[in-house]
Parts: sequence; C-alpha cells; structure tokens
Amino acid sequence: KYSTAAAVEDPINPPVKVNYTQLLIGGQFVDAASGKTFQTLDPRTGDVIANVAEGDAEDVNRAVATARKAFDEGPWPRMAAYERQRVLLRFADLIEQHNDELAALETWDNGKPYEQAAKIEVPMLARLMRYYAGWADKIHGLTVPADGPYHVQTLHEPIGVAGQIIPWNFPLLMFAWKVGPALACGNAIVMKTAEQTPLSALFAAKLLHEAGLPSGVLNVVSGFGPTAGAAIASHMDVDKLAFTGSTATGKVVLQLAAKSNLKPVTLELGGKSPFIVCEDADVDKAVELAHFALFFNQGQCCCAGSRTFVHERVYDEFVEKAKARAVNRSVGDPFKGGIEQGPQIDSDQFDKILNYINSGIESGATLETGGERFGNKGYYIKPTVFSNVKDDMLIAKDEIFGPVQTILKYKDLDEVIRRANSTCYGLAAGVFTHNIDTANTLTRALRVGTVWVNSFDTFDAAIPFGGYKMSGHGREKGIYSLNNYLQVKAVVTPLHNPAW
Ligand code: NAD
Repeated sequence: KYSTAAAVEDPINPPVKVNYTQLLIGGQFVDAASGKTFQTLDPRTGDVIANVAEGDAEDVNRAVATARKAFDEGPWPRMAAYERQRVLLRFADLIEQHNDELAALETWDNGKPYEQAAKIEVPMLARLMRYYAGWADKIHGLTVPADGPYHVQTLHEPIGVAGQIIPWNFPLLMFAWKVGPALACGNAIVMKTAEQTPLSALFAAKLLHEAGLPSGVLNVVSGFGPTAGAAIASHMDVDKLAFTGSTATGKVVLQLAAKSNLKPVTLELGGKSPFIVCEDADVDKAVELAHFALFFNQGQCCCAGSRTFVHERVYDEFVEKAKARAVNRSVGDPFKGGIEQGPQIDSDQFDKILNYINSGIESGATLETGGERFGNKGYYIKPTVFSNVKDDMLIAKDEIFGPVQTILKYKDLDEVIRRANSTCYGLAAGVFTHNIDTANTLTRALRVGTVWVNSFDTFDAAIPFGGYKMSGHGREKGIYSLNNYLQVKAVVTPLHNPAW
C-alpha cells in the first residue's frame, strides 16, 4: 500500500555526513580550477545536499596528465599483479566496513530504498571488487604455433589511460563495473560521475586510496556532460573510453572519440526490454516477476522489462493482478524500512515520466492505476500500469525510465518474437514459461544481450552484460570485460635451430 503522503512531507534525517565534495586528482581532494561548484539535490525534497566542485576541461586535462604519469611511470601497471590484487581485496574489506555510510550516501543522493542499497548494492560492490581482484593475477597471453621457424607469443598489456563516464541510476555499481576491470588489468583512470549523484563515488575512491591505490591511478572529476564528459571523450591522451548512459549521448561520445584520437569505445546504453509471459505461465508468479522487472529501482533500469507481452489466454487475469500488485507497492521515504519505491532522481525525469503517462492516456491505452505524483514534495510517482498498449504508442517505443508498466497482448510465439525484436534496442529480455521448447525458441530468437528465463535482473559479477543494436557496444562484467582494458601485443622471435 502507499504510505501516507504525510510520510514524504517530513523526510528522515540521513544517517551520514557528506565528507568529500572536491575533485579527486593525483590522490588529493582539490577544488575545480575555475573554483565553480554545483548543487547535488535530495530527490525526496529537491533540497540541496551539498555543493560539489564542478570540473571542466581544464580539470580533465589535469586529471589526464596525472593519470598519464601514473601509467607511464608506474608503479601501478608494472607492479606484481598479486600486489594489485591485494589493493582490490583491501578495498573490498573497507567497503564492508563502511557499508552503511556508503548505502546512506547512495540513498540520499539517488533516492533508492536504503534497505536495497545496504543489503544488495554495497555488498555487490565489494563482491565485484573481489571478483576482479581474482582476475588480476590470471591475465596472460598465449604462445602461438606460427607456420615459420618463429617463437610467437602474445602479451596482454593494459590499454593505458581509460576515460569512464557513468550515469546516476546505480552510481556505486556503475563505478564498480568500470573501475574493477580497468584496475585489475593495470590501467589508470579518469572518471566522470553523473552530475545528479557525485557523492558515493568520491567516498569509494577515497577508500580505494586507503586500500593502497597509488595516487594518480584513479581520478574522479565531478561535473557535467557537455563540459567535463566531452573533454574526456575527445581527449587526445585518453586511450580508451567506457560510457554508460543514454543512446543519444552514446552517439555523441562515439563521434568525439572518432574525431579526436580514435580511442576504442565501449557503450552501455538504453533499452526497451520485452518481458514475455507465455500461455503456460503461473500467473501469480509471472505478475510478481514482471512487476519486479519493471518497478525495481523506481523503474530507472536500462534493462527494465518495460514491454510486458502477455499471451491472450492469461491476459485478463494478468492485468487485474498486475494492477493489484502495483497498488500494493509501498512508496515513501527511502530511508524508511519496508519501502519498495522512493522518488525519481530529479525534476527532469519526474516531468518526462509524467509526460509519457499523459501520452499513454492520449494515445488510448487504459490507465489501470497510478498516473500521477505521490505526495506534494520531491519527485515521487505512483506505480502506474497501462493495459491495452499497442506497439506504435510512444509508451511502447520509448525508454520511459520510470515506474510505468505497459502491458501488451499477443497470440502466438512467432508474433511475439517479431514484435519483441521490432525495436532499435537490444539490451535484455525476460521469458516466463515452464516449456523448455518455448524457452529455447525465445532465447535464440531474441536479439538481446541477456535473456533471463523465469528470472530477471540477476547481476552476478561473472555474468557478462551489454547490448545488441543501439543498446551498445561490448560487454561489461565477467571475463569479457577484461578485453575492454587490454591491448594484445604479438611478439615474434626467429628460431635459430628450426629443428627445435
Ligand atoms: P545521459 O546520457 O544523459 O548521461 C550519462 C552520463 O553521460 C552522465 O555522466 C552525463 O553527465 C554524461 N554526458 C551527458 N552528455 C554528455 C556529453 N555531451 N559528452 C560526454 N558525456 C556526457 O544518461 P542519463 O539520463 O544520466 O542516464 C540514463 C540512461 O542511461 C538511460 O537511457 C539508461 O538506459 C542508460 N543506462 C544504461 C545502462 C547500461 O548498462 N546499458 C546502465 C545504466 C543506465
């Protein structure tokens, strides 16, 4: 049930202080060269949490020069892999020691339920660091059987200075997905966090230095996209760019990379993922999973199951139960126990989502529940469910990035495959069936980077994640993520005694 609107009128005092607001360059917290700051806001109220140093091109230049020196002169890329591993392991221990502070900063700056941040996201950050620590001393090349009398080997070397630009929806996990593989492989980093959520990464980066990371290896420049972000993407001395954000910005940074030094780019972009409920589905279970697939993290997931396709045989029952589940979702102050949904990140997203809801109503979809703000303060939106959604409606085509479930009816498997694939995105899909043949057909037919069968949002450190089509280039997490941060050097040496 909704908590009372009064619960969001009187926000709970966050159990944490903001200690780090400056840029982190060369192991030191410093002001922006311009002296400028920007406000980071509490999404529960719109009030200012802190003024944060606003980096721009000059600060990026400084950070890149520092990272360059740390990479070219060491010790980081040249130290024993085992030593790098120990830094990451100590960092994981420090994350656990500061679990609650990290979680509280994340909730305050982002609005996500504290229980989720404290029990899932921060522990996942530590888990990811231990996973990548495990890789640090297992990265090596091959010996290659060439045709001629040669000894041929490959060296897997770090790529150099990595530029990393991350979004606001999972600030700490995005930090981990980027920093983990880059550091395990021995690279130096210049990272730009999202302007909506700069706080938790500064704290995490501080802990990483406490764990023994040499100064200059990880530099964090808070600031805005068109200034700090663009300066990283177009920098001549950045050797690689990893970006997570919207497809529109992905196109911009790819162009900036191409126009500058042709740095390789990995992109994790948007999605409009299908969640397919088959005719054999246990409707209660399907409703619960489809609800989670869409509403988790206030609907602000790139892989949200945001097109719920339901077979006509179970459609009516599904819609009725999906509505009931949404009505029962607990919305309120994310610091309160038992809350499933906090506020959206900011007023821009809040307005954008309400506009999409209006467009759904105007285009003739049936608004089953929600459709308006919750309370009078902050950026809360009632869990919203639309039925009778058609493929050509904007709410079925665009990424809404909010708590708006759109339910579409289908008749047979070929039809749902065609419709599910009929999008420019290809990030993920959910398939709900107990029929192994149906599951096999769908998993092979869907043009997406992840298919969750009878599950959703399973984000193990070892499972690769990334998109087909306009959802991105490359994969993060798992063994696949290492290649993003490595160069392969072939070394060819003649053999003087070809007999041996
Ligand atoms: P966004 O593209 O506006 O911002 C993402 C980052 O890019 C921010 O740090 C921003 O400051 C920076 N940026 C903006 N303009 C830039 C420019 N011109 N040059 C360089 N950097 C620039 O996206 P957003 O609204 O913050 O995040 C939501 C989007 O991110 C959604 O579309 C979502 O699907 C996507 N996302 C994808 C994944 C994934 O793994 N595929 C994960 C999380 C979010």
